[in-house]
Amino acid sequence: MFCVKCGAQISDESKVCEKCGAAQKTAPDYEYKTVRCYPSDSTENKYKMFYESCGWKITDIDRRQTYDGQSFDGTQNYSTQTHIKMQRDKNMPNYDKIRELSEKAEGYFDTVPNKKRCASWLAIGIFAIIVGTIACIMASMLGLPFYAFIVAIVIGVCCLIPGILRIKSNKKVEAQYYANKAIADKALEECKALVRKSKQL
Ligand SMILES: [Zn+2]
Repeated sequence: MFCVKCGAQISDESKVCEKCGAAQKTAPDYEYKTVRCYPSDSTENKYKMFYESCGWKITDIDRRQTYDGQSFDGTQNYSTQTHIKMQRDKNMPNYDKIRELSEKAEGYFDTVPNKKRCASWLAIGIFAIIVGTIACIMASMLGLPFYAFIVAIVIGVCCLIPGILRIKSNKKVEAQYYANKAIADKALEECKALVRKSKQL
């Protein structure tokens, strides 16, 4: 916990501050939180470092199995997730600012831009155009009517349009995402600095 007078970090059992000698009236006032993540060392470390930067103290990390249901053949299915338990002292200096900044940062932590799939539209479109074009050339070389194959080219172009529109909207989504992410990253840096300052008091 933190001294009520000078903000120095002191042990939870302290009756008086070791730094300034002020009597500690309030019991530590913690907020608690549990987050879940993918059960790998690197993901867990990433989460740990992020939440510690936000002033949280990790109290427990535990990989747990969750029951997902039973298959038709009777197999019981489980998946593993890591549960990270943490607490944050509401008496820490700059707590309100730290909370505000960390909430901003958390909104963009471990996220990716919400893009729509466009590869299949483009693939179908390009395939139809190529096949249609080859068919047209072959037919005209053989002196056969080729107009029917133009339909394939038209269909191909029609498939390309949604694909291209999605690429365009994805670019916009991405640009907006990275602009917001930059703001969130800045908030995290500010938050980290405040947390570091609080710990040094
Ligand atoms: Zn003190």
